[in-house]
Amino acid sequence: MRRFDQDILVLATHNAGKVREIGDLVAPFGIGTLAAGDLSLAEPVEDGDSFAANAKIKALAIARASARPALADDSGLCVDALGGAPGIYSARWAGPAKDFALAMARVERELTAKGAVDEAARRAHFACALCLAWPDGHVEQFEGRVDGHLVFPPRGARGFGYDPIFVAEGEHETFGEMAPARKHAMSHRARAFARLVDGCFAARE
Ligand code: IMP
Repeated sequence: MRRFDQDILVLATHNAGKVREIGDLVAPFGIGTLAAGDLSLAEPVEDGDSFAANAKIKALAIARASARPALADDSGLCVDALGGAPGIYSARWAGPAKDFALAMARVERELTAKGAVDEAARRAHFACALCLAWPDGHVEQFEGRVDGHLVFPPRGARGFGYDPIFVAEGEHETFGEMAPARKHAMSHRARAFARLVDGCFAARE
């Protein structure tokens, strides 16, 4: 496994929610971040068929364009009763205006249409694939997930995306209501991140 030995990590994302969360996660290692958007780097087409494939496409494109190691996160919400949808299409369900109220309403509508109305029928998980890529084409990949169920109407204005409808196993608050530090301790991204830290950042502690 290749160690990350730089002070700056380029983030292959334009998503402000992810930039904030990943910045918080790497700060304790003395690592600063630069977002691909700040470097005016274009986002590549994500045409992979899995979270891992899309993370790799994004990380490699940005590592090569910036000539620095780059980290990409591809993540989303997978709803059991919807056959794993929206999955890799989680961002797309929000439409061009990135309207997650619309995306959450679609999830509710599709669950109701399938007769999935109680907690047991509304099981879902968030999944996160991380890819750390170097300009020479080397990659390290890690995954994490958090299981739970969905609630409607959406609750809480913290977090981003589908957070207001997701309740993690054993919790009562949605990710939208929860203090960010608590979400960071259990989220799909935090779990994938813990694996990245063990694999690539460990010697920095
Ligand atoms: P991506 O940028 O293509 O990986 O799209 C991921 C989408 O999944 C985001 O735009 C969010 O809608 C959703 N998502 C991923 N992680 C989270 C999370 O931690 N909370 C809420 N929504 C998330």
